[in-house]
Amino acid sequence: MPVSTDDRIEELRAAGVELVAGSLTDPAGVTRAKYVPLRRLSAFQRSGMGVSPSWSVFCVDTGIAFTPTIGVAGDLRIRIDPDQVRIIDDGIAWAPGSLTEQEGAPAALCLRSLLAAKERAAAELGLEVRVGAELECTMIAPDGSPASTGSWSPYGIRTSLDRSAFLVDLAATAERAGLQVEQIHTEYGHDQLEVSLAPTTPVEAADAVILARIVLSRAASRHGLRISFAPVPFEGAAGNGAHLHLSLADETGPLLSGGDGPHGIRPAGGSAIAGVIDTLPDLIGVYAGSALSALRLKPGNWAGAAACWGLENREAAVRFIAATPGSPYGANAELKLIDPSANPYLAAAAFLGSALRGIDHGLALPPEIPENPAQSSEPPPPLPTGQREAIEALENSTVAAELLTPEVVEALVAVRRYELTTYGPLTPAETTQALRLAWSC
Ligand code: GLU
Ligand code: MG
Repeated sequence: MPVSTDDRIEELRAAGVELVAGSLTDPAGVTRAKYVPLRRLSAFQRSGMGVSPSWSVFCVDTGIAFTPTIGVAGDLRIRIDPDQVRIIDDGIAWAPGSLTEQEGAPAALCLRSLLAAKERAAAELGLEVRVGAELECTMIAPDGSPASTGSWSPYGIRTSLDRSAFLVDLAATAERAGLQVEQIHTEYGHDQLEVSLAPTTPVEAADAVILARIVLSRAASRHGLRISFAPVPFEGAAGNGAHLHLSLADETGPLLSGGDGPHGIRPAGGSAIAGVIDTLPDLIGVYAGSALSALRLKPGNWAGAAACWGLENREAAVRFIAATPGSPYGANAELKLIDPSANPYLAAAAFLGSALRGIDHGLALPPEIPENPAQSSEPPPPLPTGQREAIEALENSTVAAELLTPEVVEALVAVRRYELTTYGPLTPAETTQALRLAWSC
């Protein structure tokens, strides 16, 4: 039974909480927040805190990409559920916000509600959905320069133990916040870190991504570090992915195992993977559409820049993970193409929505690409990885409008087009410098 708000306030007060944040993550992928003193927690639920509709077209910097339908007039609300408030640290607690109309109905541009609608659509089809997230990020110095200058060893015990005080603090802060961290390691890129989260229901998984970004950033700041979630933090550096894992099950069991297809994939599971691959050209602007995304989406970066699938294939957009004892949560499809400039609610809605569409249309699973697609005798058709091409594909896509609504596509296109105009003329070194902290919490 949910505790009353008064009881929740007392619990939080006992834990030293003074301020409660409710955050929204916008189409540009930036997380913004308003706060109330703890005693006003119920107001955050009842009336919500006011935000201008322009919050949906705020850009990666201080720009605002007004559209014909989103201007300066009007008022929307951030509402939070007191049961979802998590203790962060230093008197701060946080909950994921939903964007609502003043009366309380979800706003057209509430991306969290969009994902919730996809989750409901799956449930109506009798499907249980699980989503797991990986967060790659880069430790940087407070002034935005590299955190370290010495040699780096990917996954190195040295490179992780060098940061043990931070990592222990991170684990403890996550635990206190109720964040289900599965694994932590230093990654391939210089000063790069990865945190993977346990699979859960889609909205909870996207909420967990935001919580993880907050927890990572708070713990890092206590150890003289900042955390960059830029798709590429420095020119020439390894990219940061924001891979999502998806699994689906009906009343007879998982769709991605136990069947007669390749690696045990059942027909509906094959259609789900086909649906994801089919929509990649249209939705790449959702998954990896920022001014820095194209720097990462290159062959050889394990960023899944090829529109195909393959068992444990890290160069394929969809890496298939089969049900084995080595996969504790069972078979799943990992969409590697996504980077952290993507709004996690929107990316998950696009991923799940395109899988459901594939099932609905009975799409056939394309042939597997078991090797590096760049070396394949039948390479997949190229994706529109450049920002201009990705924006145009998104803007002209009927599938994107159908899956994500025309309003959401309009807002996303507006903020990404602003980036193209502002950062397109700059060099990669200038753009990485300008946007290194754009998606940080
Ligand atoms: N850093 C890679 C990316 O940009 C992924 C590396 C990996 O497979 O974990 O997505
Ligand atoms: Mg990784």
